[in-house]
Amino acid sequence: MNGNPIYKEIYGEGRTCLEAAGIEEAALDARLLLEYVCGTDRNTLLAHGDREVSAEECERYRGMIERRAAHVPLQHLTGEQDFMGLTFLVNNEVLVPRQDTEVLVEEVMKHLHDGMRILDMCTGSGCILLSLLHYSNSCEGVGVDLSGKALAVARENYGRLRAARPEMEARFLEGDLFAALEWRETSENAGDPVKRFDIIVSNPPYIKTDVIDMLMPEVREHEPVMALDGGADGLDFYRGIAGDAGAYLNGGGMLFFEIGCEQADSVREIMEKAGFREIRIVKDFAGLDRVVYGSWFG
Ligand code: GLN
Repeated sequence: MNGNPIYKEIYGEGRTCLEAAGIEEAALDARLLLEYVCGTDRNTLLAHGDREVSAEECERYRGMIERRAAHVPLQHLTGEQDFMGLTFLVNNEVLVPRQDTEVLVEEVMKHLHDGMRILDMCTGSGCILLSLLHYSNSCEGVGVDLSGKALAVARENYGRLRAARPEMEARFLEGDLFAALEWRETSENAGDPVKRFDIIVSNPPYIKTDVIDMLMPEVREHEPVMALDGGADGLDFYRGIAGDAGAYLNGGGMLFFEIGCEQADSVREIMEKAGFREIRIVKDFAGLDRVVYGSWFG
């Protein structure tokens, strides 16, 4: 016996510490951090609970538990989050990909055909665009974000995912919504080949400004405010994107939004006023309105 603690003991210590700090998923987070530090999988606790944990692993684990107890998001400690079965790098410059957003991606996939052009507005980590490209063939993707630091994360995720699928084709552009795109149809370029999209998708910031202070500390203190703040009524980006999207969509092209669960009627109205038709609302697995989409017929 050399005095090193065993796996299940150190896990118990981590769990107790996170519970005391009021962390919601204390048991889960304690296990995931231990697996991260030790390079183990979810069977280890059950099957090999007596595995010895080295002094160095212990120290790293305790350091991470301390930061998690201070409400640093789990994903900022591990630097990654799984989304659509793929692993995405994250840091505090991007919104951590949410399970809710998988509903958006899956809805787009029902309408996505090989060879389409996709625009992801407010791309953040790039999780939406890159998942769509990963699960299709010969599509071309453009991701736009106002934050250059977010785009650095998206480009790194692109590089990693492209290693598995070298034919994947994405570009990431920095700027304010459609102003980031180099192409816009004008009277001068009327005869030129058009560079419209078949699909525009966005999970934009949609929290009302004065609600942000009430969010959990993990979000409020660690995730980028610019990825959350949708203006006074939370709808600024829906108006901005829906208002201009038609100028960038092919006839029959579609616009897909993730929404906050109380925004379906407002976003439907915004899309109708902007000229979208066949508008549909899709619920998430909690039964809450989560996606609004519609078609553009010019
Ligand atoms: N599109 C990114 C995501 O869904 C970022 C969203 C945002 O910054 N609001 O994760």
